[in-house]
Amino acid sequence: MTGLIISGLPASGKGTQCKKVASEYGLAHLDTGENLRQEIAQESTLGLEAKKFIAQGKLVPDTLIQKIMVKVMGRYPSGQGFVFDGFPRTIGQARMLEDFGKEYNLHISGMIYLKVREEQIIERIRKRAQEAGRRDDQDPDIIQKRIQGQRKQLVDLKAFYQEREKYYEVDGMGDVAEVFDQIRKIIEHQGLLKE
Ligand code: AMP
Repeated sequence: MTGLIISGLPASGKGTQCKKVASEYGLAHLDTGENLRQEIAQESTLGLEAKKFIAQGKLVPDTLIQKIMVKVMGRYPSGQGFVFDGFPRTIGQARMLEDFGKEYNLHISGMIYLKVREEQIIERIRKRAQEAGRRDDQDPDIIQKRIQGQRKQLVDLKAFYQEREKYYEVDGMGDVAEVFDQIRKIIEHQGLLKE
């Protein structure tokens, strides 16, 4: 089965687009940020450990991400396709995903990056802070830390998937329907979800 990655900086719209892609193409939507927030809400060992990093605007270590991925991917039947939201965020995680590929017979067909200007990112996070009340959206220093840290990792991930001829970019500045249209064109023209 196929796995597709949709990536972007915080508040780039990847969550919204992943939901649309999942429903249009019958994929399971795996959102590591959301899974981590659920673990935190349940006060599990994994959640409590991850909370410290998230509160500081840091990425959660790959070892914890691996545990959570094994847990959530195990909930789906084999043969299920996935759209990955906010994962992988490091080269270590990209390699982890390649290893999962062997275990779950999952082929990663591409990474689609939603390109959004930083002023727009900050504006969207400010709005989301009021609407969703996420704690990591409230503090401007933490927001900057998340953006800068993730930007660095994204440069490496871009190179990783470019080397494998699996990297695609879309302009994430438009409205939801426009961005989705660009994603759909890439999926269909490149045959990303064909077995
Ligand atoms: P998100 O909801 O995707 O913005 O994620 C919220 C926070 O969870 C991030 O700022 C990270 O601290 C953490 N996080 C989510 N996904 C990952 C991941 N794949 N690797 C490391 N940390 C993650």
